[in-house]
Amino acid sequence: MATPLPAAAGAILPFPARHSPAPLLLSPPHLAGGEADRVRETLEAGWLAPAGPTPLAFEAVLGTITGHTAVLATASGTAALHLGYRVLGVLPGDEVWAPSMTFVATVAPAVQMGAVPRFLDVAGTGWTMDPGLLAEELSKAARRGRLPRVVVPVDLYGQCCDLDAIVAACDRWGVPVMVDSAAALGATQRGGRHAGRGARLAAYSFNGNKIVTAGGGGALAGEDAALVARARQLAGQAKEAWPHYEHETTGYTYGLSSVLAAVGLAQLPALAARVARRREIFARYVAGLADLPGIGFIAEPAWGRANRWLTVVTIDPGPFGMDREGVRRVLQAAGVESRPAWKPLHLQPAFRDAPQAGGATAAALFELGLCLPSGTGMTEGDQARVIDLIRSCARP
Ligand SMILES: *Cc1c(COP(=O)(O)O)cnc(C)c1O
Repeated sequence: MATPLPAAAGAILPFPARHSPAPLLLSPPHLAGGEADRVRETLEAGWLAPAGPTPLAFEAVLGTITGHTAVLATASGTAALHLGYRVLGVLPGDEVWAPSMTFVATVAPAVQMGAVPRFLDVAGTGWTMDPGLLAEELSKAARRGRLPRVVVPVDLYGQCCDLDAIVAACDRWGVPVMVDSAAALGATQRGGRHAGRGARLAAYSFNGNKIVTAGGGGALAGEDAALVARARQLAGQAKEAWPHYEHETTGYTYGLSSVLAAVGLAQLPALAARVARRREIFARYVAGLADLPGIGFIAEPAWGRANRWLTVVTIDPGPFGMDREGVRRVLQAAGVESRPAWKPLHLQPAFRDAPQAGGATAAALFELGLCLPSGTGMTEGDQARVIDLIRSCARP
């Protein structure tokens, strides 16, 4: 006999009341205003699945913003990276090189495919992959006869890596570059080119915490239309062009749903304003904290303009008088979310056997770095409170 469903299952549950006072979060989603209208439009036109005009429109707008000629909307940034690893031909045992200072998603799909990650230290200015170290390591790898299948630099916290130098180092050995620009939408590099331009492939994320969001989503983009078309086929369960289901390989359900694409379409026009606001938030933190001994910020390298997705402050406990964990706890007790900078991947238990090149810079940045609330919906009063709380931690 079937058990009846509990009454609530069929009812629309009320949303829980908001916290009072609301905690100040690191980077919550910020509505642009047109989301509900765009979702209604796509639903009324009969489009719900990851198909039809809405994801295509999202891809077109993203192409205009970034300058990429081939764009595939995906279910997440991680899915975009996974598809990138597939179309670049990563096989079990292949090496995939990434900076140590990044989020686990940069390499997770490759590791799940059986690849071996090798973690390279970052440069102290900008905290991104060190092209000099990369060039040295590539020469050594060539001598070993084991070049990486792909090098995956990261645009860290919305600041572009030195992609031109990285691509030049890799071109010498014919190694493709896929850049993890997940958090860098709206950031630019040399010549004003958008983050991710110049690599073979670039991955973007529209996760809820990013500078603009689809509520979840991503994109894989580049100039090679055939490569991106191959990723598109894999994203749709690797169906061949037959009336019946024919598969020469296996794929994924990695398309972006029309509903989420509609949310993304409403958000993308706000990107420039969101970058301006995040940069303003960064500048305000610098103005409010930089005079304190032991406090530092990620410098903006000459080659790019960051979107300042998250402001990261470095706190040197000697001169400052408290370590970053102490400051984090003070903020947490006051209802303010902050987070240590990425724990370097070469220090993660999941990758304890992975080869590495250097790592001292990344390890030091993890010890000192704290990400501060940087959401564009934050008020000036909210930010003044964060600054006052941090100032209260400093040695008098
Ligand atoms: C957010 C992020 C990802 C993952 O994107 P999802 O859309 O959450 O899968 C990957 N790399 C970096 C650096 C990120 O910040």
